Amino acid sequence: MASGEAIDVYIEAKLLGPDPVLAAALAANQAAGLPAIDVSPAQGKMLNLLARIAGAKRILEIGTLGGYSTIWLARALPEGGRLVTLELDAHYAEVARANLAAAGLADRVDPHVGPAVDTLDALIAAGEAPFDFVFVDADKPSNVAYLSAALRLARPGATLVFDNVVREGAVTDGANPDPRVQGTRALFDAIAAEPRVDATAIQTVGAKGWDGFLLAIAGAPAAA
Ligand code: SAM
Repeated sequence: MASGEAIDVYIEAKLLGPDPVLAAALAANQAAGLPAIDVSPAQGKMLNLLARIAGAKRILEIGTLGGYSTIWLARALPEGGRLVTLELDAHYAEVARANLAAAGLADRVDPHVGPAVDTLDALIAAGEAPFDFVFVDADKPSNVAYLSAALRLARPGATLVFDNVVREGAVTDGANPDPRVQGTRALFDAIAAEPRVDATAIQTVGAKGWDGFLLAIAGAPAAA
């Protein structure tokens, strides 16, 4: 039986193919000393497909790193679409800016540097136009705050995706001291108690190990 990683190689070869722009972005991230914690190619393609299926014209991303997932998402935008991406680390954001420029996407992406909770507050205060799609992939202890901000910034019916919600299975361990695990558990609790969100979570294996993503619709009543 092939490993999860080998299956990812197969999926990439069959369904994604070579992508010099994304390969260059990952090489630039590595050269600049960024951690290799981007989504996998198959996950990036999934985000791209979800945004296109949703017909997203305005995308919010929390957690830019070097812009790898940003490139996948920005490629999903139609003419005139916008992507707002939030990153704490100024060096990471600078690398992302260069990667987005090299990808020919700088004209449709607005990177913001600083703690995402502060940037989200500023976007809400400024009356930012509603988003159609929100991808959350930053510090996990803030996930409940990101959910709350997303519900204020997203239009009813918007797609929400939270990454890394399984954490090698640790998510079911209420006694786990890792704040990332507890932040993820708090996110599940908040969504379970939130009538404006209908959600599921899917486990994943592959190049990034055993993890998963949570997929939700904002502002929609639960399915019967
Ligand atoms: N989405 C990226 C990708 O797939 O290419 C990976 C994002 S990485 C897993 C998480 C990012 O969130 C890091 O770059 C980290 O600096 C950023 N981050 C952590 N805490 C943050 C905060 N409070 N506000 C904004 N960004 C934060």
